[in-house]
Amino acid sequence: MLYTLAQRGNFFTTWIALTVLAFVMMMAMSGTLFYFYYARPTFETWQKKSNPNFPAPTLVRREVLQMLKGIYTATLCPALALHLVNAGWSKAYGGLGGRSVGYLIFTFFVVWIGSDFYEFAYHRIGHTFPFWWKQHKGHHVFYNPSPFAVIADDHVDQFIRSAPLLLIPLLMPVNMDLLFFTYGAFFYGYGVYLHWGYELSWPGAHHPWINTAFQHYVHHAKSTLNKPMHTGFFFKLWDQIAGSLYKEGPETCICAGCSTARGERSREAFDAVVKPDYSVLLKPSFWLTGQEVAGERVASGANAK
Ligand SMILES: [Zn+2]
Ligand SMILES: [Zn+2]
Ligand SMILES: [Zn+2]
Repeated sequence: MLYTLAQRGNFFTTWIALTVLAFVMMMAMSGTLFYFYYARPTFETWQKKSNPNFPAPTLVRREVLQMLKGIYTATLCPALALHLVNAGWSKAYGGLGGRSVGYLIFTFFVVWIGSDFYEFAYHRIGHTFPFWWKQHKGHHVFYNPSPFAVIADDHVDQFIRSAPLLLIPLLMPVNMDLLFFTYGAFFYGYGVYLHWGYELSWPGAHHPWINTAFQHYVHHAKSTLNKPMHTGFFFKLWDQIAGSLYKEGPETCICAGCSTARGERSREAFDAVVKPDYSVLLKPSFWLTGQEVAGERVASGANAK
């Protein structure tokens, strides 16, 4: 599908088409979770929320604007991969490209595991070298992120994160639909879960080998320059090897499960939490100015932590 699209157009039409496709997919995934868990929270769901507070609408606006930057940057690499085919550089193909279904499955696993290590390693560099932290720290403005923060990154940072979408087709024959949707739906989908801010009973916050939404919440809340912590994506393995795990016991652990067990998630505590009025996000004037219209309540979304 994408391969045929690229053959019919030029680099810019492909780039624009991929950007629109990614935008629609990503807004649908992030927006759905945001609606149910941020705009319409209940006491029961809140007991599973890692950070008891909700981000202010101005911060959510900033996440979405930065996400747009992330989207048009991330689609540059697959657009390039599709247009380097005719020059003989890229091994991107459409359909089965004369290969078996087994090869498709094989490439999916190569892409999945290879990218997981790549994303861990590059992310860790962003937390260990001052130059790379400068590229990455825009993502850490959101210390209590919402599902819109997945690719709320600056240009250089997002370009390198999405570079496998160009590097993989240069290295090995790969079906471009498989590659694009593995990144756009499978990885982005897991990224939405990681930035959800809520914990599931499975995989729980203390799962031995899966990097869960709680680990990524801790990453946003505590990890900074020279303090890499859970820079991994799907698997904990890389952080286990590098020794960058969050390891608090039940008395001090900040996960929702441990907080609830210590009695910190009572009905009174929920009632005291500010629930911002996110309906301003539906007003064009808010997007243009970042200001709520005079006379409306300014939702502070007080973010202690
Ligand atoms: Zn980070
Ligand atoms: Zn993040
Ligand atoms: Zn815990």
